[in-house]
Amino acid sequence: MTLAKGFMIINGKKVFDSKDTMQVINPATEEVMGEVPVANKEDIDKTIDIAQKSFLNWSRENPRTRSKILHAAAERVREEAEKIAEILTLEQGKPLKEARGEIKVSADILDFYAEELKRVKGINYWMDSNYIKSQVIYQPIGVIGAITPFNYPVSLTAFKVAPALATGNTVIVKPSSLTPLSVIYYLNCIIEAGLPDGVLNCLTGPGGQVVEYLLESPAIGKVSFTGSTETGRKIMSKAGKYLKKMTLELGGNSPVLIFKDADIERAVNDCVYRSFRNMGQICNSINRIYVEKSIMDDFVNSFIDKSKSLVIDNGIKNPDADLGPMASLEGVIKTEAHIKDALKKGACLKYGGKKPENFKKGFFFEPTVVTNVNCQMMIMNEETFGPVAPIMGFEDLEEGIRLSNRSPYGLVSYVYTKDLSKAIYVSENLQFGTVGINNIIGAEVGYPYGGWKDSGIGVEVSEHALYEYLNLKHIRIKI
Ligand code: NAD
Repeated sequence: MTLAKGFMIINGKKVFDSKDTMQVINPATEEVMGEVPVANKEDIDKTIDIAQKSFLNWSRENPRTRSKILHAAAERVREEAEKIAEILTLEQGKPLKEARGEIKVSADILDFYAEELKRVKGINYWMDSNYIKSQVIYQPIGVIGAITPFNYPVSLTAFKVAPALATGNTVIVKPSSLTPLSVIYYLNCIIEAGLPDGVLNCLTGPGGQVVEYLLESPAIGKVSFTGSTETGRKIMSKAGKYLKKMTLELGGNSPVLIFKDADIERAVNDCVYRSFRNMGQICNSINRIYVEKSIMDDFVNSFIDKSKSLVIDNGIKNPDADLGPMASLEGVIKTEAHIKDALKKGACLKYGGKKPENFKKGFFFEPTVVTNVNCQMMIMNEETFGPVAPIMGFEDLEEGIRLSNRSPYGLVSYVYTKDLSKAIYVSENLQFGTVGINNIIGAEVGYPYGGWKDSGIGVEVSEHALYEYLNLKHIRIKI
């Protein structure tokens, strides 16, 4: 197979050359499938300088023009969707059907902000006297550093780039080193749609190196980061020194509460999907399943049956497979460590727990179900980010709420019940940015998505996200 050749995007040009390159691995075969350059200090300095200079014109650009370019970009992404989706499957592992869905969302989000940007408006006040006119307006911040993870590399980049560009900022993207290629090809479509040179740039290389250097630059007005809570903390403490504005979309440890009055079949189907989709590598994966004790056995048996029906395969050869490999060996190692810890502390392995026998190569792992779990286990406290579903019983509503809230994370939680009063009471008492009642759609275009507590600061994917990329200004005029 020919290697996919990645490039950086600096001032609208593709930059292939660099002293160092990084390999990109296909997690289904463990073979090298591509490479990208590693940005050096010169590249980073040049990019920051270009992005800063380009801000002057782009921030003054008429919103209608920005809107047209974003719509054209969405169309260009749709034209290239199949190619980007294939690269995404090859570097990340998710089946092609899933990759196609991700690219579709990443095009749609450009259209969404192309319209939403027109609705940003200021306020006029005539409060103090007839001779003082106060205007409050929103203005773009400047150069945005957008740092993104491997699990939904394209859509999570789109969640930052689209609102940042829509509001007149310029952007430097640093994609995950595991999955840079799909992001580069996506960004290139936006540039080809007519974005002026220097407005959208992309640097590749190890996070620590490239991001640290970006953070130190006074020209970077804001850092928008999606990734683990651990990396988020490091970035925030560094950014604190330079007083950067921040949006942080971090890790989760999402609980689901299944009450005895729930539609059990629906709850099982949804929970299996949300526990194992993308091999559990989703920030809003279900990580802790709490089931009311009287229906525990029925739930567990149906959950195992449904899990057994999932098809695991190489997502290029079998585009409609339910699950592909995990994205990296590190992910498999962490998943195994969490299972081992749980079993050592008394958990019962009901299904899975190992590499599937029919795959000699690749980071494949069986969807895994464990019961008899307790609050001392890593699996019930830390984000596994792997295909493991731990199931635990709860006695009553208050215990269910307490168990759900005992996590330091506060991204998404889910509840299954047919009792409307209970649904309202529980959702108001769960300390999470999103609560799904009888459904598992955690993040959807148009609605705010953001974490409470250790899951982050700020929101994405809605009109609220536009204001993450805008400064407020009061203009006081004496007449
Ligand atoms: P990660 O934190 O390892 O990496 C994220 C990005 O940060 C990458 O681009 C990486 O190169 C860079 N990076 C890594 N170390 C760095 C450092 N020391 N300094 C600066 N940058 C650094 O995360 P990941 O493994 O790519 O992604 C998985 C994590 O992302 C999970 O915790 C998941 O929950 C979280 N996530 C959160 C959301 C959300 O919306 N809340 C969405 C998706 C993923």
